[in-house]
Amino acid sequence: MPEIKVLPEDVVSKIAAGEVIERPASVLKELLENSLDAGAGRIEVELKKAGRGLIRVHDDGRGMDREDLRLALGRHATSKLASFDDLYSLATFGFRGEALYSIFAVSRLKLTSCRAGADSGYGIEGEGGHVTAEVPAPPVKGTTIEASDLFFNTPARAKFMKSDTAERAHLIKTVEEAALANLGTAFRLVIDGAEILSLPVLPGGLWENLKHRAAAIFGKSVYAGLARIEGKTAGMAVYGFVSRPDALGATRANQYFFVNRRPVGSALLRQALYRGYGHMLTGKHPACALFLELDPGAFDANIHPQKRDVKFSSENEIFKTISNTVYEELLSKQTAAVQFSAPAGDNKFTPPDVPAYREAAAAAQPAAEASGLFDALPAAAAAPADWRGKDLAYLGQLAKSYLLFECESGLLVVDQHAAQERVLFERYLEEFSRGAIKVQPLLVPLEAELSRSQMETVLKWRDWMKTAGFEIDQRGPAVALLRAAPALFYFTQAAFTEFLGYLSEVLGEPQAAAEDMKRGVIATMACKKSIKAHDFVKPQEALRLMEDLKKAKDGHHCPHGRPTLFHLSAADIARRFQRSGTL
Ligand code: ADP
Ligand code: MG
Repeated sequence: MPEIKVLPEDVVSKIAAGEVIERPASVLKELLENSLDAGAGRIEVELKKAGRGLIRVHDDGRGMDREDLRLALGRHATSKLASFDDLYSLATFGFRGEALYSIFAVSRLKLTSCRAGADSGYGIEGEGGHVTAEVPAPPVKGTTIEASDLFFNTPARAKFMKSDTAERAHLIKTVEEAALANLGTAFRLVIDGAEILSLPVLPGGLWENLKHRAAAIFGKSVYAGLARIEGKTAGMAVYGFVSRPDALGATRANQYFFVNRRPVGSALLRQALYRGYGHMLTGKHPACALFLELDPGAFDANIHPQKRDVKFSSENEIFKTISNTVYEELLSKQTAAVQFSAPAGDNKFTPPDVPAYREAAAAAQPAAEASGLFDALPAAAAAPADWRGKDLAYLGQLAKSYLLFECESGLLVVDQHAAQERVLFERYLEEFSRGAIKVQPLLVPLEAELSRSQMETVLKWRDWMKTAGFEIDQRGPAVALLRAAPALFYFTQAAFTEFLGYLSEVLGEPQAAAEDMKRGVIATMACKKSIKAHDFVKPQEALRLMEDLKKAKDGHHCPHGRPTLFHLSAADIARRFQRSGTL
């Protein structure tokens, strides 16, 4: 008996399917690419049960006749590639000729198609790779593909599926990417009967359409922080929207990259984008819809089974073109009016590392911190270890941001914002661990307008957020409502939108994160967002804040790690005046 066996065909097809079809979103991606390849002017997507129940894609493209319809389901069936060399001058999206074959292997599939002008259309039905029926269909130009009960015959695969919300987020992102990349095609997305996206083709060309789609996909607040960029060098062009430096986010969630209008994940492109921000980027992340146009022979998209990754023949040139374009365009926009959507007067440039509350002082004399008084101080001048035990005499408030105290015949300078954050942070965590968060219902709920995928993440966290004192509701596909919040916090509408934006970017799966980590993240962000800048502080409030800060476990740092205070001793001050002794 030979030990080597030839695998039966249906095992082979399931193995092939395993490579191409990782999750419902991979099915959708392949079907969308086929519809786009077929020249569709309009694509409608309908999903049920996060794609596991049904993925239906209808297009008005060129369609298939009966013979093509049968062939399309076979392995290595393609109308797009005739020779191996063609792979290197890829002009279409699909090219492996096994997407339909693979989807067919792991679902119940129904294909209906009709060519323009034909008397009748045709339909083929089958499951697990076997055709069960062929039926005539109405003569409506285009193709409809319905894949139901995905992975019904590969239970092991089905077990690897993430939660419905996670899969839905992937599905939505897949449609969003296709819609950003194909502005000449109208898209509609319906999930479990609800319309999630409706993107017509508007008159007015590329930028009009890109703007409209970016607004629908990113959500209003991220969209309002975008700037338009455009640049060209020999052999390539780059264009799109990127965040202004004063509107960066906490993670990479809102980044969309395209090469020749194909969505890609590329470390090179991302790094080039980040480099473009230079010093304006401090640990934060831009949103982008960034398009690179290249000669099709200049990159290879075949190195990854999901075709997300690309390899470029001239990495240096691409890196330089993108980073220079981003840098120059953003710099030029520091003075010029922002190109769209920013409210009038909101186009001033603020480096992201200058917190808003310091803006006024910094704007007046930008170099003050770098070359002035504080720079010359040794790091150890921070705070005397015993400031907690001392009586503090309140001297007053500086720039509505700093509280000045006399301490040990020196000066204690407190960043009121950082100090408040620290006190709130510890108090909230303490209430949380006692299971005694004081919750305050809001008379008028606050609204946050999010992107669809942000909304998906927020929904995943809704139950846990309730234990953290936040009652969050959904209104419509992408509006979150805050109905109640911990009494310690105060949110404005804008702050709440940012809070949820941060949350959905920073937090992954609720089950995956440790409880302490989750609490820490929520507390940090809630504190940051709930404190108003430029507050006038009354003397008794200043003193109370210092008493609270004395009791804090780490009174020296805000929850983000910035110092809350520093001390300038009388000797330090004397040295400033070139005196040798004390005052
Ligand atoms: P590939 O896209 O790599 O050629 P697929 O398995 O995805 O392989 O599709 C096989 C073939 O079926 C395509 O080459 C195309 O001719 C045809 N086809 C698939 N989907 C459509 C569609 N929506 N409209 C027209 N033809 C299609
Ligand atoms: Mg294909």
